[in-house]
Amino acid sequence: MMTGKPGKTPSDMKVADDEYPGIQPSGFGVYIHWPFCHKKCPYCDFNSHVRDQIDQSGFGNAIITELKTMAEISGFHGKPLDSVFFGGGTPSLMEAEIAGRILNTITSLFSVSEQCEITLEANPTFIEADRLQAFRDQGINRLSLGIQSLKDDQLAFLGRQHSAAEASEALAKAQHIFPRVSADFIYALPDQKLDEWQQQLSQILDLGCDHLSLYQLTLEQGTAFYSLAKRGRLTMLDETMALDQFLLTQEMCESRGMSAYEVSNHATPGQESRHNLIYWRGGDWLGAGPGAIGRFWHPENRQRVETRARKDPDGWREDVSKQGHGLSHHQGEDVTDYASEAVMMGLRLREGIRLSKIETLAGPRSEWLDEDEVGYLCDQGLLSFHDDCLTLTDDGKTVMNTVIGRILK
Ligand code: SF4
Repeated sequence: MMTGKPGKTPSDMKVADDEYPGIQPSGFGVYIHWPFCHKKCPYCDFNSHVRDQIDQSGFGNAIITELKTMAEISGFHGKPLDSVFFGGGTPSLMEAEIAGRILNTITSLFSVSEQCEITLEANPTFIEADRLQAFRDQGINRLSLGIQSLKDDQLAFLGRQHSAAEASEALAKAQHIFPRVSADFIYALPDQKLDEWQQQLSQILDLGCDHLSLYQLTLEQGTAFYSLAKRGRLTMLDETMALDQFLLTQEMCESRGMSAYEVSNHATPGQESRHNLIYWRGGDWLGAGPGAIGRFWHPENRQRVETRARKDPDGWREDVSKQGHGLSHHQGEDVTDYASEAVMMGLRLREGIRLSKIETLAGPRSEWLDEDEVGYLCDQGLLSFHDDCLTLTDDGKTVMNTVIGRILK
Protein backbone atom coordinates (compact mmCIF):
# COMPACT_ATOMS: atom_id res chain seq x y z
CA MET A 1 0.00 0.00 0.00
CA MET A 2 3.03 2.26 -0.15
CA THR A 3 2.29 5.04 -2.61
CA GLY A 4 4.06 7.99 -4.11
CA LYS A 5 7.56 8.89 -5.06
CA PRO A 6 10.28 6.35 -4.47
CA GLY A 7 12.97 8.88 -3.61
CA LYS A 8 16.69 8.29 -3.24
CA THR A 9 17.33 5.60 -0.69
CA PRO A 10 21.01 4.91 -0.15
CA SER A 11 21.11 1.22 0.62
CA ASP A 12 24.15 1.48 2.84
CA MET A 13 22.88 4.31 5.04
CA LYS A 14 24.03 4.09 8.62
CA VAL A 15 21.78 5.65 11.19
CA ALA A 16 23.21 4.54 14.51
CA ASP A 17 23.04 7.59 16.76
CA ASP A 18 26.10 6.51 18.71
CA GLU A 19 28.18 7.37 15.66
CA TYR A 20 27.56 11.01 16.52
CA PRO A 21 29.09 11.80 19.90
CA GLY A 22 27.49 14.86 21.46
CA ILE A 23 24.19 14.33 19.67
CA GLN A 24 21.57 12.44 21.62
CA PRO A 25 19.83 9.39 20.11
CA SER A 26 16.75 10.38 18.12
CA GLY A 27 14.40 7.86 19.76
CA PHE A 28 11.10 6.16 18.99
CA GLY A 29 7.66 7.33 20.13
CA VAL A 30 3.95 6.72 19.65
CA TYR A 31 1.48 9.60 19.33
CA ILE A 32 -2.22 9.06 20.06
CA HIS A 33 -4.69 11.73 18.92
CA TRP A 34 -7.98 12.12 20.82
CA PRO A 35 -9.83 14.67 18.70
CA PHE A 36 -12.59 15.89 21.01
CA CYS A 37 -12.89 19.04 23.15
CA HIS A 38 -15.67 20.56 25.26
CA LYS A 39 -15.40 23.79 23.30
CA LYS A 40 -13.28 25.14 20.46
CA CYS A 41 -10.80 27.79 21.63
CA PRO A 42 -10.72 30.78 19.25
CA TYR A 43 -6.96 30.60 18.60
CA CYS A 44 -6.73 26.84 18.03
CA ASP A 45 -6.14 25.19 14.67
CA PHE A 46 -5.60 21.67 16.00
CA ASN A 47 -7.77 18.83 14.78
CA SER A 48 -10.34 19.19 17.57
CA HIS A 49 -14.09 18.67 17.37
CA VAL A 50 -16.97 19.43 19.74
CA ARG A 51 -19.62 16.71 20.02
CA ASP A 52 -22.67 16.27 22.27
CA GLN A 53 -22.04 12.58 22.51
CA ILE A 54 -18.93 10.52 21.89
CA ASP A 55 -18.78 6.77 21.54
CA GLN A 56 -15.63 6.59 23.66
CA SER A 57 -15.31 2.86 23.54
CA GLY A 58 -15.78 2.78 19.75
CA PHE A 59 -13.09 5.42 19.20
CA GLY A 60 -10.77 3.70 21.71
CA ASN A 61 -11.16 0.39 19.84
CA ALA A 62 -10.49 2.11 16.51
CA ILE A 63 -7.26 3.65 17.88
CA ILE A 64 -6.20 0.20 19.08
CA THR A 65 -6.92 -1.30 15.65
CA GLU A 66 -4.98 1.46 13.89
CA LEU A 67 -2.04 1.05 16.29
CA LYS A 68 -1.79 -2.63 15.41
CA THR A 69 -1.82 -1.74 11.71
CA MET A 70 0.86 0.92 12.24
CA ALA A 71 3.10 -1.63 13.99
CA GLU A 72 2.74 -3.86 10.89
CA ILE A 73 3.27 -1.07 8.35
CA SER A 74 6.36 0.25 10.11
CA GLY A 75 7.91 -3.12 10.88
CA PHE A 76 8.50 -1.88 14.45
CA HIS A 77 7.06 -4.84 16.38
CA GLY A 78 9.08 -5.22 19.58
CA LYS A 79 11.13 -2.03 19.04
CA PRO A 80 12.16 -0.32 22.31
CA LEU A 81 9.83 2.61 22.90
CA ASP A 82 10.99 5.90 24.45
CA SER A 83 7.69 7.70 24.73
CA VAL A 84 3.92 7.69 24.33
CA PHE A 85 2.03 10.96 23.99
CA PHE A 86 -1.75 11.34 24.30
CA GLY A 87 -2.53 14.64 22.57
CA GLY A 88 -5.53 16.25 21.01
CA GLY A 89 -8.10 17.64 21.28
CA THR A 90 -8.42 17.00 24.97
CA PRO A 91 -7.31 13.46 25.79
CA SER A 92 -8.04 13.96 29.50
CA LEU A 93 -11.74 13.82 28.48
CA MET A 94 -11.12 10.22 27.47
CA GLU A 95 -12.19 7.60 30.00
CA ALA A 96 -9.03 6.60 31.87
CA GLU A 97 -9.84 2.95 31.31
CA ILE A 98 -9.63 3.52 27.54
CA ALA A 99 -6.21 5.14 27.89
CA GLY A 100 -5.24 2.04 29.90
CA ARG A 101 -6.43 -0.30 27.15
CA ILE A 102 -4.50 1.68 24.55
CA LEU A 103 -1.37 1.49 26.73
CA ASN A 104 -1.80 -2.28 27.15
CA THR A 105 -1.93 -2.61 23.37
CA ILE A 106 1.20 -0.48 23.02
CA THR A 107 2.96 -2.67 25.59
CA SER A 108 2.00 -5.78 23.63
CA LEU A 109 3.27 -4.32 20.33
CA PHE A 110 6.55 -2.68 21.38
CA SER A 111 9.15 -3.03 24.08
CA VAL A 112 8.09 -0.67 26.88
CA SER A 113 10.38 -0.20 29.88
CA GLU A 114 9.83 1.58 33.19
CA GLN A 115 11.73 4.56 31.74
CA CYS A 116 9.22 5.11 28.95
CA GLU A 117 7.79 8.65 29.18
CA ILE A 118 3.97 8.48 28.98
CA THR A 119 2.40 11.93 28.70
CA LEU A 120 -1.25 13.00 28.75
CA GLU A 121 -2.43 16.49 27.81
CA ALA A 122 -5.10 17.89 30.13
CA ASN A 123 -7.01 21.08 30.77
CA PRO A 124 -7.39 22.37 34.31
CA THR A 125 -11.20 22.18 34.48
CA PHE A 126 -12.76 20.48 37.51
CA ILE A 127 -14.03 17.60 35.40
CA GLU A 128 -10.57 16.73 34.19
CA ALA A 129 -8.69 17.44 37.43
CA ASP A 130 -11.05 15.08 39.26
CA ARG A 131 -9.85 12.18 37.16
CA LEU A 132 -6.09 12.67 37.26
CA GLN A 133 -5.45 9.84 39.73
CA ALA A 134 -7.33 7.42 37.47
CA PHE A 135 -4.95 8.28 34.60
CA ARG A 136 -1.93 7.86 36.87
CA ASP A 137 -3.24 4.43 37.88
CA GLN A 138 -3.38 3.47 34.19
CA GLY A 139 0.33 4.22 33.75
CA ILE A 140 0.49 7.88 32.68
CA ASN A 141 3.69 9.29 34.26
CA ARG A 142 3.78 12.83 32.88
CA LEU A 143 1.01 15.42 32.67
CA SER A 144 0.99 18.40 30.34
CA LEU A 145 -1.48 20.97 31.62
CA GLY A 146 -2.89 23.65 29.30
CA ILE A 147 -3.12 26.53 31.77
CA GLN A 148 -2.45 29.35 29.23
CA SER A 149 -2.72 32.26 31.69
CA LEU A 150 -2.87 33.07 35.40
CA LYS A 151 -5.29 35.99 34.74
CA ASP A 152 -9.04 35.48 34.53
CA ASP A 153 -9.56 38.23 31.95
CA GLN A 154 -6.91 36.70 29.68
CA LEU A 155 -8.44 33.23 30.11
CA ALA A 156 -11.83 34.65 29.10
CA PHE A 157 -10.28 36.32 26.04
CA LEU A 158 -8.66 32.99 25.07
CA GLY A 159 -12.03 31.27 25.40
CA ARG A 160 -10.79 28.93 28.09
CA GLN A 161 -13.23 27.13 30.34
CA HIS A 162 -11.25 27.33 33.57
CA SER A 163 -10.39 30.15 35.96
CA ALA A 164 -6.92 31.02 37.25
CA ALA A 165 -7.87 29.61 40.68
CA GLU A 166 -8.98 26.32 39.12
CA ALA A 167 -5.72 26.15 37.18
CA SER A 168 -3.63 26.58 40.34
CA GLU A 169 -5.68 23.92 42.11
CA ALA A 170 -5.40 21.48 39.22
CA LEU A 171 -1.65 22.07 38.95
CA ALA A 172 -1.10 21.43 42.67
CA LYS A 173 -3.13 18.24 42.37
CA ALA A 174 -1.19 17.12 39.29
CA GLN A 175 2.15 17.80 40.99
CA HIS A 176 1.03 15.62 43.88
CA ILE A 177 -0.02 12.75 41.60
CA PHE A 178 2.46 12.72 38.69
CA PRO A 179 6.25 12.46 38.85
CA ARG A 180 6.60 14.98 36.01
CA VAL A 181 4.33 17.92 35.18
CA SER A 182 4.55 20.46 32.38
CA ALA A 183 2.38 23.54 31.89
CA ASP A 184 1.56 25.55 28.75
CA PHE A 185 1.12 29.32 28.71
CA ILE A 186 0.39 31.84 25.98
CA TYR A 187 1.81 35.37 25.97
CA ALA A 188 2.10 38.32 23.59
CA LEU A 189 -1.67 38.73 23.74
CA PRO A 190 -3.20 41.86 22.14
CA ASP A 191 -2.47 44.85 24.38
CA GLN A 192 -0.40 42.77 26.81
CA LYS A 193 2.20 44.95 28.48
CA LEU A 194 5.79 43.90 29.10
CA ASP A 195 5.60 44.55 32.84
CA GLU A 196 2.38 42.52 33.14
CA TRP A 197 4.02 39.53 31.40
CA GLN A 198 7.11 39.99 33.57
CA GLN A 199 4.98 39.80 36.70
CA GLN A 200 2.99 36.84 35.44
CA LEU A 201 6.07 34.92 34.29
CA SER A 202 7.62 35.42 37.69
CA GLN A 203 4.49 33.82 39.21
CA ILE A 204 4.65 31.02 36.64
CA LEU A 205 8.27 30.29 37.52
CA ASP A 206 7.23 30.07 41.18
CA LEU A 207 4.75 27.28 40.41
CA GLY A 208 7.49 24.64 40.57
CA CYS A 209 6.92 23.05 37.15
CA ASP A 210 9.92 21.15 35.79
CA HIS A 211 8.87 21.93 32.22
CA LEU A 212 7.18 24.97 30.68
CA SER A 213 5.93 25.53 27.14
CA LEU A 214 5.66 29.29 26.60
CA TYR A 215 4.09 30.23 23.28
CA GLN A 216 3.42 33.59 21.71
CA LEU A 217 -0.14 34.01 20.47
CA THR A 218 -0.16 33.61 16.68
CA LEU A 219 -2.95 33.92 14.14
CA GLU A 220 -3.70 30.58 12.50
CA GLN A 221 -5.85 30.27 9.42
CA GLY A 222 -9.32 28.86 9.98
CA THR A 223 -9.56 29.99 13.61
CA ALA A 224 -12.12 32.40 15.09
CA PHE A 225 -9.31 34.87 15.93
CA TYR A 226 -8.15 34.75 12.30
CA SER A 227 -11.65 35.73 11.07
CA LEU A 228 -11.89 38.50 13.67
CA ALA A 229 -8.50 39.88 12.62
CA LYS A 230 -9.50 39.72 8.95
CA ARG A 231 -12.58 41.83 9.74
CA GLY A 232 -10.46 44.30 11.68
CA ARG A 233 -11.98 43.32 15.01
CA LEU A 234 -8.80 41.92 16.53
CA THR A 235 -5.38 43.54 16.45
CA MET A 236 -2.43 41.40 17.36
CA LEU A 237 0.39 42.71 19.54
CA ASP A 238 2.95 44.76 17.68
CA GLU A 239 5.89 42.58 16.52
CA THR A 240 8.52 44.61 18.36
CA MET A 241 6.61 44.34 21.62
CA ALA A 242 6.15 40.59 21.06
CA LEU A 243 9.91 40.29 20.47
CA ASP A 244 10.63 42.16 23.73
CA GLN A 245 8.39 39.70 25.57
CA PHE A 246 10.18 36.75 23.92
CA LEU A 247 13.60 38.10 24.95
CA LEU A 248 12.40 38.76 28.47
CA THR A 249 11.05 35.21 28.63
CA GLN A 250 14.45 33.78 27.63
CA GLU A 251 16.25 35.90 30.19
CA MET A 252 13.91 35.21 33.11
CA CYS A 253 13.69 31.47 32.48
CA GLU A 254 17.45 31.19 32.14
CA SER A 255 18.03 33.02 35.40
CA ARG A 256 15.76 30.48 37.11
CA GLY A 257 17.54 27.41 35.70
CA MET A 258 14.95 26.78 32.99
CA SER A 259 16.68 27.87 29.83
CA ALA A 260 15.09 27.10 26.48
CA TYR A 261 16.14 23.73 25.08
CA GLU A 262 13.80 24.52 22.17
CA VAL A 263 12.57 27.92 21.03
CA SER A 264 9.38 27.82 23.15
CA ASN A 265 10.16 25.01 25.57
CA HIS A 266 12.00 25.34 28.85
CA ALA A 267 13.01 22.66 31.32
CA THR A 268 15.18 21.99 34.29
CA PRO A 269 18.08 19.71 33.24
CA GLY A 270 16.82 16.21 32.47
CA GLN A 271 13.16 17.19 32.34
CA GLU A 272 12.97 17.97 28.63
CA SER A 273 10.02 16.37 26.82
CA ARG A 274 11.47 13.17 25.41
CA HIS A 275 8.54 12.88 23.05
CA ASN A 276 8.97 16.27 21.44
CA LEU A 277 12.72 15.70 21.24
CA ILE A 278 11.95 12.73 18.98
CA TYR A 279 10.22 15.13 16.54
CA TRP A 280 12.92 17.76 16.74
CA ARG A 281 15.79 15.27 16.41
CA GLY A 282 14.23 13.58 13.39
CA GLY A 283 13.51 10.29 15.17
CA ASP A 284 10.83 7.70 14.48
CA TRP A 285 7.25 8.00 15.62
CA LEU A 286 3.98 6.33 14.78
CA GLY A 287 0.67 8.21 14.95
CA ALA A 288 -2.80 6.78 15.61
CA GLY A 289 -6.15 8.56 15.75
CA PRO A 290 -7.92 11.11 13.49
CA GLY A 291 -5.44 13.50 11.89
CA ALA A 292 -2.40 11.86 13.54
CA ILE A 293 0.89 12.12 11.67
CA GLY A 294 3.74 9.61 11.84
CA ARG A 295 7.27 9.65 10.40
CA PHE A 296 9.80 6.87 10.53
CA TRP A 297 12.70 5.19 8.76
CA HIS A 298 11.40 1.89 7.50
CA PRO A 299 13.80 -0.75 8.84
CA GLU A 300 13.82 -2.84 5.66
CA ASN A 301 14.07 -0.40 2.78
CA ARG A 302 15.59 2.42 4.88
CA GLN A 303 13.14 4.87 3.42
CA ARG A 304 11.73 7.77 5.43
CA VAL A 305 7.96 7.29 5.47
CA GLU A 306 5.28 9.81 6.37
CA THR A 307 1.75 8.80 7.36
CA ARG A 308 -1.24 11.11 7.85
CA ALA A 309 -4.64 9.98 9.04
CA ARG A 310 -7.98 11.44 7.92
CA LYS A 311 -8.94 14.37 10.13
CA ASP A 312 -12.71 13.91 10.25
CA PRO A 313 -13.29 11.56 13.23
CA ASP A 314 -16.30 9.70 11.80
CA GLY A 315 -14.76 9.19 8.37
CA TRP A 316 -11.53 8.08 10.02
CA ARG A 317 -13.37 5.57 12.19
CA GLU A 318 -15.28 4.18 9.22
CA ASP A 319 -12.01 3.68 7.32
CA VAL A 320 -10.44 1.95 10.31
CA SER A 321 -13.35 -0.47 10.51
CA LYS A 322 -13.04 -1.25 6.77
CA GLN A 323 -9.27 -1.40 6.29
CA GLY A 324 -7.63 -1.39 9.71
CA HIS A 325 -6.40 2.21 9.43
CA GLY A 326 -7.68 5.68 8.64
CA LEU A 327 -4.64 6.87 6.67
CA SER A 328 -5.20 9.34 3.89
CA HIS A 329 -1.49 9.54 3.11
CA HIS A 330 1.24 6.93 3.35
CA GLN A 331 4.23 7.87 1.34
CA GLY A 332 7.98 7.45 1.15
CA GLU A 333 9.77 10.79 1.28
CA ASP A 334 12.62 11.85 -0.91
CA VAL A 335 15.75 12.04 1.23
CA THR A 336 16.02 15.77 0.55
CA ASP A 337 12.56 16.14 2.19
CA TYR A 338 14.13 14.46 5.19
CA ALA A 339 17.03 16.94 5.09
CA SER A 340 14.56 19.86 5.13
CA GLU A 341 12.66 18.31 8.03
CA ALA A 342 15.89 17.69 9.94
CA VAL A 343 17.07 21.30 9.44
CA MET A 344 13.68 22.89 10.19
CA MET A 345 13.08 20.82 13.31
CA GLY A 346 16.67 20.53 14.54
CA LEU A 347 17.47 24.23 14.42
CA ARG A 348 14.65 24.80 16.91
CA LEU A 349 16.84 23.02 19.47
CA ARG A 350 19.60 24.64 21.48
CA GLU A 351 21.82 21.64 20.59
CA GLY A 352 21.27 22.37 16.87
CA ILE A 353 22.02 19.93 14.06
CA ARG A 354 25.02 17.81 13.13
CA LEU A 355 25.43 18.30 9.38
CA SER A 356 27.43 15.10 8.77
CA LYS A 357 24.66 13.08 10.43
CA ILE A 358 22.07 14.52 8.06
CA GLU A 359 24.47 13.95 5.15
CA THR A 360 24.73 10.27 6.00
CA LEU A 361 20.98 10.01 5.60
CA ALA A 362 20.25 12.60 2.93
CA GLY A 363 23.35 12.81 0.76
CA PRO A 364 25.88 15.64 0.26
CA ARG A 365 24.92 18.90 1.97
CA SER A 366 25.45 20.78 -1.28
CA GLU A 367 22.19 19.20 -2.50
CA TRP A 368 19.99 20.52 0.31
CA LEU A 369 21.87 23.34 2.02
CA ASP A 370 22.93 26.72 0.66
CA GLU A 371 26.41 26.81 2.17
CA ASP A 372 27.15 30.36 0.98
CA GLU A 373 24.04 31.56 2.77
CA VAL A 374 25.08 29.66 5.91
CA GLY A 375 28.47 31.41 5.79
CA TYR A 376 26.82 34.81 5.29
CA LEU A 377 24.35 34.30 8.15
CA CYS A 378 27.21 33.13 10.42
CA ASP A 379 29.01 36.40 9.60
CA GLN A 380 25.80 38.28 10.42
CA GLY A 381 25.69 36.61 13.85
CA LEU A 382 22.46 34.72 13.20
CA LEU A 383 23.96 31.23 12.90
CA SER A 384 26.92 29.55 14.53
CA PHE A 385 28.87 26.64 13.00
CA HIS A 386 31.46 24.76 15.05
CA ASP A 387 32.70 21.16 14.96
CA ASP A 388 30.12 20.15 12.35
CA CYS A 389 27.32 21.53 14.52
CA LEU A 390 25.01 24.28 13.21
CA THR A 391 22.95 26.28 15.73
CA LEU A 392 20.89 29.44 15.76
CA THR A 393 22.36 32.25 17.86
CA ASP A 394 20.09 34.20 20.25
CA ASP A 395 19.61 36.81 17.52
CA GLY A 396 18.96 34.07 14.98
CA LYS A 397 16.15 32.64 17.11
CA THR A 398 14.22 35.89 16.77
CA VAL A 399 14.15 35.46 12.96
CA MET A 400 14.24 31.67 12.87
CA ASN A 401 11.79 31.13 10.00
CA THR A 402 13.60 33.60 7.76
CA VAL A 403 16.98 32.00 8.49
CA ILE A 404 15.69 28.49 7.80
CA GLY A 405 13.97 29.66 4.61
CA ARG A 406 17.25 31.16 3.38
CA ILE A 407 19.58 28.23 4.03
CA LEU A 408 17.42 25.40 2.64
CA LYS A 409 17.65 24.65 -1.07
S1 SF4 B 1 -8.77 22.69 24.43
FE1 SF4 B 1 -6.81 22.63 23.29
S2 SF4 B 1 -7.17 21.36 21.48
FE2 SF4 B 1 -9.19 21.90 22.36
S3 SF4 B 1 -9.81 23.69 21.20
FE3 SF4 B 1 -8.79 24.44 23.03
S4 SF4 B 1 -6.62 24.69 22.47
FE4 SF4 B 1 -7.60 23.44 20.88
